[in-house]
Amino acid sequence: MPQLQRLAIAASQIQYPQITLTADQQHYLSRVLRLSVGDQFIAINGQGQAWIAEIAADAAQILEVVEMAPELPIVTTLLVALPKGTGFEDVIRQVTEMGVTCIQPLLSQRTLLKPSLHKLERWQRIAQEAAEQSERAVIPTILAPVAFSAALALATQISPTHHYLCVARGNAPHLLDCLRQSMNWMLTPPQTPLDGARGRSLIIATGPEGGWTDLEIKQAIAQKFQPVSLGKRVLRAVTAPLVAMSLVAAVCESRQQPAETPVNLRHP
Ligand code: SAM
Repeated sequence: MPQLQRLAIAASQIQYPQITLTADQQHYLSRVLRLSVGDQFIAINGQGQAWIAEIAADAAQILEVVEMAPELPIVTTLLVALPKGTGFEDVIRQVTEMGVTCIQPLLSQRTLLKPSLHKLERWQRIAQEAAEQSERAVIPTILAPVAFSAALALATQISPTHHYLCVARGNAPHLLDCLRQSMNWMLTPPQTPLDGARGRSLIIATGPEGGWTDLEIKQAIAQKFQPVSLGKRVLRAVTAPLVAMSLVAAVCESRQQPAETPVNLRHP
């Protein structure tokens, strides 16, 4: 089957088997993707479901369900101190490609950016486009920016355990080692819906260009955040979230899909 283009739709647009299309979506399908009546695309609802749909005049008909398995088996929330300029937009794109579930922008003590409210809509659109591009079934949620202390208070509600604070200096254990220790917990199938929603989730916080203040590190530790390292080099504020998210994906996926044939590490 040829590769089909993807389009995110809201649940309210589905009156099975029909999908109503907004004017913007009709424009996108016909003018940007160059599709016409009778052509097919994949509609995703951003919450894990997808369908092959065929374009009719101003709507689309659902033809069949698409089974998709590109999602990580855990819910990952990144608390990201807003970097300067438009760096946060790159962070959203890249961590969406790596499988993040939710991004909470932070206003920490050394955050320089003061975002305007309309940014949130733009950030959510960037997450949607990145999710479509990387063929994900879930569109990550981008929350409104909050103060660091407020995010710490919310963290326990999102995930009762497994909170990590990335610190650029000191002798903190590597995030990779911490994630490996959690491996069994992460990859054990949930026993109850509560397990699925809360037990298999983790939170990782990364700081701004100037780093965390000592007070912020103390506050986070008091809220059961484990300080962790991402290696011996100091990463840029826009690089750290991507590295953290790559480690989460690698730990989940390298164990989930064991190599079918032994890997030969020596050259022939
Ligand atoms: N001068 C700052 C300091 O000493 O903390 C550097 C901050 S760094 C540019 C921005 C953020 O990226 C840090 O607050 C931290 O969350 C994360 N980060 C950068 N390098 C890291 C590393 N090697 N290990 C863990 N976190 C790191």
